[in-house]
Amino acid sequence: MLDFSLTEEQKALVETARRFTRERIAPIAAECDRDARFPKDVFVAAHELGLVNATVSSEYGGAGLHELDNALVAEELAWGCTGIQTSLLANTLALTPIVLAGNEAQKKKYLGMLTADPVFASYCTTEPSGGSDVAGMRTQFRAVGNDYVLNGEKCWITNASLASFYVVFATTDPQKRHKGIAAFIVDRDTPGLRVGKHEDKMGQRASDTAAVHFEDVKVPKENMLAPEGEGFKLAMETFNQTRPDIAAMGTGLMQRCLDESLAYAKERKTFGVPIVEHQLVQAMLAEMAISTEATRLLYQKAAWNLDNGVRDPIVSSYAKAFGADRAMQTALDAVQVFGGNGYVKDYPVEKLMRDAKVLQIYEGTSQIQRLVIARSLAR
Ligand SMILES: Cc1cc2nc3c(=O)[nH]c(=O)nc-3n(C[C@H](O)[C@H](O)[C@H](O)COP(=O)(O)OP(=O)(O)OC[C@H]3O[C@@H](n4cnc5c(N)ncnc54)[C@H](O)[C@@H]3O)c2cc1C
Repeated sequence: MLDFSLTEEQKALVETARRFTRERIAPIAAECDRDARFPKDVFVAAHELGLVNATVSSEYGGAGLHELDNALVAEELAWGCTGIQTSLLANTLALTPIVLAGNEAQKKKYLGMLTADPVFASYCTTEPSGGSDVAGMRTQFRAVGNDYVLNGEKCWITNASLASFYVVFATTDPQKRHKGIAAFIVDRDTPGLRVGKHEDKMGQRASDTAAVHFEDVKVPKENMLAPEGEGFKLAMETFNQTRPDIAAMGTGLMQRCLDESLAYAKERKTFGVPIVEHQLVQAMLAEMAISTEATRLLYQKAAWNLDNGVRDPIVSSYAKAFGADRAMQTALDAVQVFGGNGYVKDYPVEKLMRDAKVLQIYEGTSQIQRLVIARSLAR
């Protein structure tokens, strides 16, 4: 039997996240966007409430929530600001490979670190030479005595300036492509590791994004997360698990577009009537509602799959591609509903439009999702 209802626990979780968003995120979103500032106190408060690192099991100090629960939280937080939300939930991207591939000591140390205190971690695959071609990465490692030594550069790394440790993918030889890739956990204070400048972005400006440079960075053997040849699979499996969260973010952003547009359309009058009575405006509002609900169903199915052992990347990619593309169109339509007022910072929708764009870019672009889907279909 199919059941689309949330459990009582899930309803309470959504209510907590919704209240937190209305009280702590939405009121400061415009200012954080203007100043390109991530509000660390909001992270501390979210950590206290258990809204971050939520999927870590109780053995390592977490709440042990399901992927679906985490995605429900992502949708709520995204309503307030997807920039703040991206940085609030980026630990999930870094901790997922540790949950999937870490040994007991690594899980105890690093997952325990995240749950004990409000600290950040970053996930590093992308390099200046290109993010879509993960197998083409150039950051290299070699074994030296009891350590590995890393050299190279990662870019566009969420929370790079804030992180206490990094999950870093590197290769023995770029020519080996996916067969050469391994993964490591690298502590922030390791000599030779340097964080670059904060990127001045178009949207999601409240989220911290920077490059990380590795110059003869010594990583102890016990910090290898996946050996040579296993790192690429780990990176892909991580994306399979986190892409539904991007669709959930898109849902939250679209819900905000719809709420703002509907309220405005009831107030704003042209030709003697509120614009909500014009059929072409109604069509935009209806499209927004369809996109929001359809993406919600897709991310929930993709997350349900993960929680029930159905490891099918095609559904995660359906959710990510559809959710990101619809979020972009919905935000464009929200600006349209607002007319000239949609084009200025006095109203919230121009920010929603700038914020939506990156959903089509990070964690695999919309084109890469279509490649994953088409390859899966062809198989
Ligand atoms: C705000 C932000 C936060 C990010 N956070 C992180 C993070 O925390 N960790 C991390 O590792 N990375 C992160 N990224 C990087 C992100 O994942 C990459 O930007 C993304 O994967 C695209 O890589 P690229 O920018 O190098 O574009 P490219 O790979 O150079 O692609 C450029 C264009 O070509 C298209 N394209 C490329 N190859 C193909 C193909 N085979 N077929 C069809 N089209 C193709 C792409 O779709 C895109 O339109 C972040 C990026 C941003 C903007």
